[in-house]
Amino acid sequence: MKILIAEDMEDSLVMLEMVITSMGHMAVSGANGLEALRLAQADPPDLIISDIMMPEMDGFEFCRRVKADPELQKIPFIFYTATYTEHQDQELASALGASRFIIKPQEPKVLMAIIKEVLADFSRAELPVGPGPEAQKENGEISDMYQQSVGRKLDKKIRELEREREALKASEAKYRHLVESVQEYYFFYTHDTKGVFNYISPSIEIVLGYKPAEFLVHYSEYLTDNPANKEVVRHTELSIKGEEQPPYEVEIEAKDGSLHWLEVKEFPAFDKFGEVTHVEGIAHNITERKRAEVERDKLRTQLTQAQKMEAVGRLAGGVAHDFNNMLGVILGYAELALGEVEPGHPLFDDLQEICKAAERSADLTRQLLAFARKQIIVPKVIDLNETVAGMLKMLGRLIGEDIDLAWLPGADIWSVKVDPAQIDQILANLSVNARDAIAGVGKMTIETGNVVFDEEYCADHVGFTLGEYVLLAVSDDGCGMDKKTQNNLFEPFFTTKGEGQGTGLGLSTVYGIVKQNNGFINVYSEPGEGTTFRIYLARHAGAAESMPQAGLVKPAVGGHETILLVEDELAILDMTKRILEHLGYTVLVASTPDEALRLVEAYSGEIHLLLSDVVLPEMNGLDLVKKLLIYHADLKSLFMSGYTANVIARRGILDAGVNFIQKPFTRQDLAVKVREVLDCN
Ligand code: ADP
Ligand code: MG
Repeated sequence: MKILIAEDMEDSLVMLEMVITSMGHMAVSGANGLEALRLAQADPPDLIISDIMMPEMDGFEFCRRVKADPELQKIPFIFYTATYTEHQDQELASALGASRFIIKPQEPKVLMAIIKEVLADFSRAELPVGPGPEAQKENGEISDMYQQSVGRKLDKKIRELEREREALKASEAKYRHLVESVQEYYFFYTHDTKGVFNYISPSIEIVLGYKPAEFLVHYSEYLTDNPANKEVVRHTELSIKGEEQPPYEVEIEAKDGSLHWLEVKEFPAFDKFGEVTHVEGIAHNITERKRAEVERDKLRTQLTQAQKMEAVGRLAGGVAHDFNNMLGVILGYAELALGEVEPGHPLFDDLQEICKAAERSADLTRQLLAFARKQIIVPKVIDLNETVAGMLKMLGRLIGEDIDLAWLPGADIWSVKVDPAQIDQILANLSVNARDAIAGVGKMTIETGNVVFDEEYCADHVGFTLGEYVLLAVSDDGCGMDKKTQNNLFEPFFTTKGEGQGTGLGLSTVYGIVKQNNGFINVYSEPGEGTTFRIYLARHAGAAESMPQAGLVKPAVGGHETILLVEDELAILDMTKRILEHLGYTVLVASTPDEALRLVEAYSGEIHLLLSDVVLPEMNGLDLVKKLLIYHADLKSLFMSGYTANVIARRGILDAGVNFIQKPFTRQDLAVKVREVLDCN
């Protein structure tokens, strides 16, 4: 049999076709009532199954036409519908002469049973072959029923649409709420293809303080002249062309004048032809992140600076050491020669000039060594207030009468362990700088106090470590300095002073001393506003030793004791031997520790003093003393060095109680020191 299907829905159609063909019938189909009617008219089928809601001609009209057509009216007609499901619809269907009214969806086997039944009824001629009994009614009545049915359907559809619209509105409101409220860091916008904003979300007010309307009009005025902002125009142009790009950053001035960084991401929106309709954008306030980046960069520069100082220090230390030895030789021989000539002699003045120049150079190398932390020091536990107080008179003379010196000692300050001579040097160097910065009348202040560095402070300051410190601050109300000067301040030979006025070693020396004592130094300065240097020295647990009274300068006196001189630098060995012999001593010399040991073993007389370099080949001076004490229990020792880089005196710090003389030394220095050591018990 041939069965005609009128159905616009693909799924239903396929299912019906399957059912029909599986029953051994043939299926033809039309996508709407009109098409199906034409097929029926062209070749009448044995059964019609029709949907009701279809475009162009619905199922009711299709049925009416079929039942009105004398050629077709006998064909059984089944409605199969998902939309018209009310009993009035069913009534209309049977009034039109339909045999069955099936509601979608139905199981294939149910459909099969119905089709079978209808065909069987038809063959037994039990079905109404003409228009159904109801169709006998007045045509007007059917049309009323039809209109009512469609009207009801329409009503229902409108209600449905209204519900959908409500839902859409609710979801849009939700989206709006999301976009426009509680957005502390974001705001959204869209602009047209000319770059003109057509929407900015109100949350912009939370981010930048502007109302959307304000921003819309004056937007370009808020862009700062940051070079990065040039990107904005290029970016907008590309977005308008439909190119999606990575986010860009822009700096904008907020209403309150504060500067903010925004990260902006734009998305071009397209119509179905691929044309850009508008651009959607989202701006994210990344000021905090930017700030953190800047902070990180700052810390990185500080670190590089510290590393640079370290490298320069090593270099300077190496040069200064060799140079120092040579100066010692120059100074020593010049002094010896000076001792041989009478003051009236033509060579006398020349020799004196050599001595002066050598001493000045020795001062320079000493500062370099201090910077390189290669200066030998003898730290003592001291009360900083006491040390500073002892220096005030000297500092006053250094800075002159025009500068008022204020001394503000902190109460109950902790003790520190440092060579007091180094504190003197720090104060002297800082005072000279203050004097130069003030250049006239002004004020200099020295303060001390206790400070504790917490974790927060250390996180912000590279190289600072947690703990308790004693602060030594030196301030002046002088010319101050700019950032550039501050960045180079501690570098050796950095000076802004004219030729012959500055060596550029003052602050590098201070820096080296502070570092050698594991301390920290900070500078605060503004051009025209003066300068403050803050030095932090680690607190020492324990009380301060009382300071020995500075003795009078002793005259150079010699003696007749026997001295063992050990020095690997032959020029210095010879020179020192000559100075000592000149002073009346008996001198035994050795250039290595082994040689010294052999000499002592073979020597039958008494040896009173060992004068030795700290750093020697094979064995250091301190170890040599220990061995020699086996032979001469009363042997005294005096060490000399330009610097030391060895194990015992790592970082150049000797134990308190070790006698030490800094190279290069004058004849006078050596004479005094040797006598002092020999005379003490
Ligand atoms: P010098 O004093 O020989 O120039 P320093 O190492 O002592 O070398 O100082 C380096 C530079 O730091 C100075 O030339 C000066 O520009 C600057 N400076 C140091 N201290 C101060 C200060 N208290 N006020 C202003 N500038 C200073
Ligand atoms: Mg200086």
